[in-house]
Amino acid sequence: MKYVSTRGDAPVLEFGDALLTGLAIDGGLYVPAELPRFTDAQLRGWRDRPYAEVATGVLADLVTPTLDEDELGPLVEGAYSSFDHPDVVPLRWLGDDGWLLELFHGPTLSFKDIALQLVGGLFERQLALTGRTVTIVGATSGDTGSAAIEAMRDREGIELVMLHPSGRVSEIQRLQMTTVDAPNITNVAVEGTFDDCQDLVKALFADRALRDEVGLAAVNSINIARVLAQSVYYVTAALALGVPDRRVGFTVPTGNFGNIYSGHLSRARGLPVERLTVATNRNDILARFLCEGEMRIADVEPSLSSAMDIQVSSNFERLLWEVLDRDGAAVGEVMAEFRTTGRLPVGAEVVDRVRAGFGGDRRSDDEILATIADVHDRHGVVIDPHTAVGVGVDRELGEDADVAHVMLACAHPAKFGATVERAIGQAPELPPRLADLEHRPERYLTVANDLDTVREIVRSQSS
Ligand SMILES: *Cc1c(COP(=O)(O)O)cnc(C)c1O
Repeated sequence: MKYVSTRGDAPVLEFGDALLTGLAIDGGLYVPAELPRFTDAQLRGWRDRPYAEVATGVLADLVTPTLDEDELGPLVEGAYSSFDHPDVVPLRWLGDDGWLLELFHGPTLSFKDIALQLVGGLFERQLALTGRTVTIVGATSGDTGSAAIEAMRDREGIELVMLHPSGRVSEIQRLQMTTVDAPNITNVAVEGTFDDCQDLVKALFADRALRDEVGLAAVNSINIARVLAQSVYYVTAALALGVPDRRVGFTVPTGNFGNIYSGHLSRARGLPVERLTVATNRNDILARFLCEGEMRIADVEPSLSSAMDIQVSSNFERLLWEVLDRDGAAVGEVMAEFRTTGRLPVGAEVVDRVRAGFGGDRRSDDEILATIADVHDRHGVVIDPHTAVGVGVDRELGEDADVAHVMLACAHPAKFGATVERAIGQAPELPPRLADLEHRPERYLTVANDLDTVREIVRSQSS
């Protein structure tokens, strides 16, 4: 499979190179040049098969010739053996509300593990093949950091330096990062905000000499391998609920448009999906676009579902490329104007094409708390604030008895214990494998918000 940039002005790459490249040199995002369709026989054959086997089947055409199925299979097995549920992504019935698709059974309790556990293995193999080493540098406001650290720990050829804003991530989120005891992991608490951390990372990537010296790399949400890995659970969930003999619709809490775009990929490959519904919090740029037809940037406001506090949904560019008929130059112009004016310059025809594929709505913090309480009262199930955004939006969709409703549960409620406690009066417990988290020794550096200091840390870790 070849991968092309959404802006049409970067080299066409095989999967392995797109994996290591991340952002294309023209500023675009890599997308598969074509989408091999699932056959009816494939879909029926995957029903009731183990998750890793279906994942290997779904991804095989997308990673060849970088990997053949015999090489991919063991990497996929390894990635999902770290999950603490035999189904990897179990479905839980919520009665008349539909089905929760639980994506939080990985080592760090958020859906980001599903992509990153696999990306870790893919990175390591690709580096070994090409004889390269990399230093991954990232900034995190919470979930991404721990998922990346768990994915990359103890891997050959990889150093990872993760910056977080000192005192501004939750205690559980900090502990999940700083208690990982692996020689290739360095945690840095920066005396500043998340934006300061991001600015530091950007400045490091802008330093060409450093980039070449240490082989700077990123594993952020625009990496195509993450998007592909996430497309698998739409297939397994749909099959478990009876597709292709039954209809199914998904509601997806989203900020970066990453998770839901993965669902779109599986639908575009022929998985029968009735609808894909975007669920946002008060940072509702996507919902406003779908409802009102205009995409305009507003200020980011903190919400109870913090992993979705995003205004620029970077993966949306991949969909834009499709609805602009794969015209890279047009995508480049639209994105440039979006960046300078804060408004996406597209006409009604483009809006209609997006609306044909996606619905969307938003939920406020009060509605998040009410939904957590109500789901707990009526079903005895505790959900996290991000999941609550999706459940709240899904409820407004109305009944169609023929369509199974699937709501993506993106984090374990114990990751957001304070909010859950506000809603239901008790804090959820961590799963057994993290129960002693508070007693594990922490390792991290605390530094001033200073580029030279951070650069020296990156340099010394990579040598
Ligand atoms: C990252 C994250 C999201 C948002 O994912 P997108 O890639 O923006 O769709 C939602 N919920 C949780 C818990 C997350 O960690």
